[in-house]
Amino acid sequence: MLSWAEGISSKGVFAVNEAEAKGRTQFVLNTGRSLLQGVSMEGESKWSRKYFDAVAIIEMNPSDISALGAKDRVKVYNEHGAVVVRVKHSNRAPPGQVFIPMGPWANVLTDPETDATGMPRLKGIKVFVEPTDEPLTTLADVLKLLGAKQLEVYMEDLPLKTGEKKVVENAVCSFCGDLCDHLVIEVDGSKIVRITGGCAISSAKLLNYHRHRILKPYIREQGKLVEVDLDKALDEAADILVSSKYPLIFGLSSTDTEANKYAIELAELVHGVVDNTSVFCHGPTTLAVQEVGTARCTFGAAVNLADLVVFWGCNPLEAHPNHFARIVLREGRFVKGRKERKVVVIDIRRTPTADQADLFIEVEPGRDYELLTALRMAIRDLDIEAPLVAGVPREKVIELAEIMRTARYGVIFFGQGLTMTGAKYRNLVALIKLVQELNEWTKFSIVPMRGHYNVTGANQVSLWITCYPYAVSYARGFPKMIIGVTSATDLLAHGDVDSALIVASDPVAHLPRKAVEHLARIPVVVIDAKWSLTSAFADVIIPGAYVGIECEGTAYRMDDVPIRLKKIVDPPPGVLCDSEVLRMLVDRVKAKMGCGA
Ligand code: SF4
Repeated sequence: MLSWAEGISSKGVFAVNEAEAKGRTQFVLNTGRSLLQGVSMEGESKWSRKYFDAVAIIEMNPSDISALGAKDRVKVYNEHGAVVVRVKHSNRAPPGQVFIPMGPWANVLTDPETDATGMPRLKGIKVFVEPTDEPLTTLADVLKLLGAKQLEVYMEDLPLKTGEKKVVENAVCSFCGDLCDHLVIEVDGSKIVRITGGCAISSAKLLNYHRHRILKPYIREQGKLVEVDLDKALDEAADILVSSKYPLIFGLSSTDTEANKYAIELAELVHGVVDNTSVFCHGPTTLAVQEVGTARCTFGAAVNLADLVVFWGCNPLEAHPNHFARIVLREGRFVKGRKERKVVVIDIRRTPTADQADLFIEVEPGRDYELLTALRMAIRDLDIEAPLVAGVPREKVIELAEIMRTARYGVIFFGQGLTMTGAKYRNLVALIKLVQELNEWTKFSIVPMRGHYNVTGANQVSLWITCYPYAVSYARGFPKMIIGVTSATDLLAHGDVDSALIVASDPVAHLPRKAVEHLARIPVVVIDAKWSLTSAFADVIIPGAYVGIECEGTAYRMDDVPIRLKKIVDPPPGVLCDSEVLRMLVDRVKAKMGCGA
């Protein structure tokens, strides 16, 4: 009997049986954000050479590279697929572990199994790596493998006109969950000329907002996208949704709360399912909160009170570049900045954030739950018999427990290193219990490091309207959330939905191969400002204006604080805000269903 290799063979990717696999070198693959990934996709688009150079790489320890005898490239493969990527020497990758930045190359290798949490396994994936002379896997190769409907995109740069000069103060960056609201943006006509207070990613986004845009609606006719007017595109999109038995409405984390409201109304109308990108970030956190409650604080409390900041399974220096300066380096009411604030980083590899820490604890991949359990024991002065816990010496566990117990105010910022590995949502249950128990000794809080700028708002709106934070199905006319069944990754990977409306999101860049392949088989409507990779699977494309640049709107920061995003410049001619497009789509669907606009 063949092992997983049989599946590979039947997909025409690789043929490796168990016996052959035995002689090969297995590694643990972790995926995640990197600064270059963020800057390249915002500055140059995911279709660019710069993005390819930033994402189609594998970071490996030099000792692993020389042991394999690899030169500039390697083939990485497992039961889900194979890619050939460039090798990057990195002392940050521990021997036996490799890192590929989040993106379509990594997704070819990720596991669609969500273990009934809705969250695919995007870290701790077993892969084989071998030297090769084969050509690098291009974006076109990956998209073809996924079954993209077309490989051509019609990017346009919005012509910029100089004119009235103005300075917008306290502008908000609409990229990550930090929602930095202290930016100063200088504008000349429709051109953004200077940004003060932002990070490299926000500069890449704001200075290039006009590039690689979708400026016209398109529909697919005889296999090709053709330009149409907005009325025709809305009509086609409404037809797709009304004629579907079970449509998926997905994304909604890089748009405002107003757009989220209409998306939920749409799902209720067509008896579909509405889900947001929590499924591949902090969905497990919301599940844990439902089970054991939480102990949250705002940025304000962290800055003013925290003399201990712990980063667990997150790397803000690359994914949320301003975060460290905003929270850790800042002087607060009772803490005089970095010199009075201890920083601990717990992660599976030495990240740039770990370089800034007073204490770095390297945990074995997928074994955070054990470390959390040992910490809970150490805080209660219970004996830990094992000399090593998840690769961490017992003495270090006890030292960390003491640091936590004796802090005046501690905050744990945590990321996908906890939500998508090992015990997944049970990690978060253990983390929340740890913090609740620490509050018997001192004051302690947690804050999830949210990725997309309004994924917290998407959860909030969903909770207000449906009582569920994400993955809400209206199949029976009332809201229902069954994680592992009504969550987007599971629905797509199991082929359970028969159309998809994707709003301001790029599931092709984030979801495992098996889930993305279903998008190639069903009608897909995309509402977005730029040509995402998902647009290669679209049958209808409707341009949307950028919230926080071309439209006002409300978004929720990662600590649940709502922030009003400002409009900096006018939207392109004929391009509407997402909320307006969705409102019109709701009216169009109502008219087609005979429920009146
Ligand atoms: S940290 Fe995030 S929100 Fe702040 S400026 Fe950078 S990308 Fe924008």
